[in-house]
Amino acid sequence: MNNIPKSLREKLRQVSYIGNLKKELVLESKIDKTKKYLFELNDKNIIETVMMEYEDRITVCISNQVGCRMGCNFCASTLEGLIRNLEPWEILDQIIKIQEDNNKRVSNLVLMGSGEPLDNFSNTKKFLELVNDKNGLNIGYRHITLSTCGIAPKMIELADLELPINLALSLHSPYDDKRQEIMPVAKAYKIEEIINACKYYIKKTNRRVTIEYSLIKGVNDSEKEAREIIRLLKGMLCHVNLIPVNNVEERNYERPDKAHIYKFKDILEKAHIPTTVRISMGSDIGGACGQLRKGYKK
Ligand code: SF4
Repeated sequence: MNNIPKSLREKLRQVSYIGNLKKELVLESKIDKTKKYLFELNDKNIIETVMMEYEDRITVCISNQVGCRMGCNFCASTLEGLIRNLEPWEILDQIIKIQEDNNKRVSNLVLMGSGEPLDNFSNTKKFLELVNDKNGLNIGYRHITLSTCGIAPKMIELADLELPINLALSLHSPYDDKRQEIMPVAKAYKIEEIINACKYYIKKTNRRVTIEYSLIKGVNDSEKEAREIIRLLKGMLCHVNLIPVNNVEERNYERPDKAHIYKFKDILEKAHIPTTVRISMGSDIGGACGQLRKGYKK
């Protein structure tokens, strides 16, 4: 920037830097139009970002941390724990790089990649401001979904920001003891507390909450569990997204067969709980969270 005084350039050099994510690898699915990106950060850490192209929109699933300390059993991102939080610009630059690479505008975002966004709260908050700003990427809050494993006090803090973003809660079991086996964070926050936090979120934002439920064969896919979910969610402005679990070779989890998945869905729908089954995108290119990064590092 030769158009500014040398003294100011020197000052800028001292107080700031221009960061840049480096595109390390891109894999494109042959089944659908999903693309998986690995980006290298300035400190050589690697993060993973996914672009999903639909007829009417492009959704990007972004990472929020390098690794994750939440320890969910079905997730490859947490196998080495948390390495570090991403800075707001590092979260934002994943979208910018994908837009540039495809020469297309990203319309929707899901904070569902590696990391727990509410464990990196202040950087996530700053990122949300930047991505929504009309001088930034101008992506509407209603087109952004933040997924949490259920850090109840932070869910309340997020609700108090009164941003109309969509909240998704990873439930995975309607029973505290079973949930603790699947996701250790459940030891800190009981189901009653996180469901109350969801209700508070709905009250503050008037947005429907998504309940994410990974279906694991023989672990959380019985009719008894479906009935308990109904009891828990009855009357709440929510919908359930069933996610047939991806195989993570370090864990012993298997996905139920298709008929069983749809039987589970039917039970919920008959009780008037809107339920969808997540379609697995990019399953030929390491579709599950953290799988590609893990394989690449190996
Ligand atoms: S599912 Fe999300 S919160 Fe749980 S370990 Fe993986 S990245 Fe972390």
